[in-house]
Amino acid sequence: MDPTDLTTLRAAFAGRLHTDPAEMAPFLTDWRRKWTGQALAVAQPDTTEAVAAVLRWCHANRVPVVPQGGNTGLSGGATPDASGQALVLSLTRLKRIRSVDPVNQTIEAEAGVTLQQLQDAAREAGRLFPLSLAAQGSCTIGGNLATNAGGVQVLRYGNARELCLGLEVVTPDGQVWNGLRSLRKDNTGYDLRDLYIGSEGTLGVITAAVLKLFPLPAAQLAAFVAVPSPQAATELLQLAQARLGAGLTAFELMGDACIALVEKHVPAARLPLADRSPWYVLIELSDTQDEAHANGALEGLLEVAIEQGCATDAAVSTSLAQFRALWALREDISESQGAEGKTIKHDIALPISRIAGFVEAITAAVTRSFPGLRSICFGHLGDGNLHYNFSPAIGQPEAEFVALEGPLNRLVHDAVSAAGGSISAEHGLGVLRRDEAARYKSPIELQLMRAIKAALDPLNLMNPGKVLP
Ligand code: FAD
Repeated sequence: MDPTDLTTLRAAFAGRLHTDPAEMAPFLTDWRRKWTGQALAVAQPDTTEAVAAVLRWCHANRVPVVPQGGNTGLSGGATPDASGQALVLSLTRLKRIRSVDPVNQTIEAEAGVTLQQLQDAAREAGRLFPLSLAAQGSCTIGGNLATNAGGVQVLRYGNARELCLGLEVVTPDGQVWNGLRSLRKDNTGYDLRDLYIGSEGTLGVITAAVLKLFPLPAAQLAAFVAVPSPQAATELLQLAQARLGAGLTAFELMGDACIALVEKHVPAARLPLADRSPWYVLIELSDTQDEAHANGALEGLLEVAIEQGCATDAAVSTSLAQFRALWALREDISESQGAEGKTIKHDIALPISRIAGFVEAITAAVTRSFPGLRSICFGHLGDGNLHYNFSPAIGQPEAEFVALEGPLNRLVHDAVSAAGGSISAEHGLGVLRRDEAARYKSPIELQLMRAIKAALDPLNLMNPGKVLP
């Protein structure tokens, strides 16, 4: 059959099929506008069975498939290549919340449900779905699982993998695996669920998932804390973990350059402290009792931290508006950096015990090799995850800055690898980090990954060219 004869595909499934270039365009460029590709067509099936029918057609016709959720991924995984031979399979029309079980604390949802919709459905049932990230209005639960997304509460609740109990997956030849178990214990052989989570669409298509829910907190407070150094921030983290226990739901580090950028680009943004500090930490406390209890715990922590010298000043939220304003200082960093022009970004993970030393050493190395570059360093310190980004030196021509990406990546990632870290903490490999990851992984690890890919997708139809070189 001629794969370009799409009439047979049109007849094969329930849902939309876009072939018009203008209709396809939004599916062919990624959120950062870093990658643009071409596609045979964009299919938007309505049901799991329709997804299976699309994959059976692709399998029969040897047509590669690029699964896509909200298209907010930051590594180019959801964008087709330039050949125009692949089908983009958009899951956004699979958007049913299938069931909520408040007693089992679980929710079953289809892959195209947005993270925001999932959080709202959980809250309506009096429960919390804790995965939380700035793209939550657009990213889908299928995409969150396919990239094993992290976000701001991993410290307390874990990343997408830890929040998932079961999956429904369509295999590359169009069979449906119903692994929608809602069990917290299930040791019955190889964990297929964990293979698909984080596989970035290269092994199969996630069509639905069973996810864990938690009790809603009775009160939430945020503290914006001035700290003299990343080492002091690490000491504060230990203190906060010891004193707040499971109530500590986020612990974010930010350099002063980050906050200065937010103040420059977001009119309402204000540093909530009298004096500037080289570094700041945002602490979120979720309390099971009430606000007074939360306030007492947070004030107690900050008093000891200031006494011990790991904090120098702090502002604690006293209203929901203040809570949001403090969080906005952290969440608006990426967009504010984008408003400054081109960026070079690194999403790295390190053992928490090595972060302070790493930041000191890498800052010195970058200053030596690339004088004038502005480093914009922030991240989820509680998870050992930093976004170690750069903006051009003042007045530096864009082309000159962009040309530094390769050497800068090499410098940063070599240092990360030497410190026992990872070059992609939460954004996946996609095409952005595919070749670099192959450089840092051992031959045996790559061999095992290739064996899994060959076993589950022998025709290499699922998102070819992503994750593995
Ligand atoms: P897409 O971008 O559509 O796809 C991502 C990958 O998953 C692709 O490889 C695609 O092929 C595959 N895929 C998508 N759906 C499926 C499916 N149903 N089955 C199989 N494969 C599939 N990420 C974080 O981890 N933490 C953050 O804090 C964070 N903050 C962000 C903030 C902003 C402003 C933006 C734009 C992005 C951020 N991200 C963050 C990245 C992004 O939101 C996440 O990676 C998200 O999980 C992607 O979901 P998506 O539905 O948009 O997936």
